[in-house]
Amino acid sequence: MSDTGSQTLSPETIVDFLAGIFDRRGGEEYLGEPVTMAEHMLQGAHFAEQAGEAEIIVVAALLHDIGHFTSEFGTFSMDDVEDRHHEEAGARVLEQFFPTLVTDCVRYHVAAKRYLCATDPAYLGKLSAASVHSLNLQGGPMSADEVVEFEKNGNCEEIVRVRLYDDAGKQADLTTQPFSYYAPMVQRIVDAHCGGTA
Ligand code: FE
Repeated sequence: MSDTGSQTLSPETIVDFLAGIFDRRGGEEYLGEPVTMAEHMLQGAHFAEQAGEAEIIVVAALLHDIGHFTSEFGTFSMDDVEDRHHEEAGARVLEQFFPTLVTDCVRYHVAAKRYLCATDPAYLGKLSAASVHSLNLQGGPMSADEVVEFEKNGNCEEIVRVRLYDDAGKQADLTTQPFSYYAPMVQRIVDAHCGGTA
């Protein structure tokens, strides 16, 4: 259970809670990108699904930036909403309801950008201007040692794929499904992790 101040989150309520965040906060600007935060995450899920990914990866793409809204969860101070920590904060709020594969894709999506910049010469050229700018704040491309360390994660390939759906999800005027379309999928992942609901 997670105390959000006004309500207690459980496997039965977490999906509605996430839907509420998309509804109420999703219209917020994604700094420097031509999409809102909700559009960005829904586009990430859209591209994951279009690529034929398993539901768990679609869900990871859908929730990868939820850390921008951790103040909603009540257990974090406003300071935690700062962009430089959003990936860790997001993984922490999700980890009691979602498996490690999902939280790793969330936790390491910024690391994956730094990894791809170090290992794929063409990748940097495909990043948006805002993403190149934040790369510098995030530590720039990984060092050779960091690359070796990153590749030790058993979920490395999935983390990188979610990163690519994240990068793709910055398109103006792309119509996607709403959160409600993905809600049953999200619930299945929660139920599988939490042992099913009553
Ligand atoms: Fe993102």
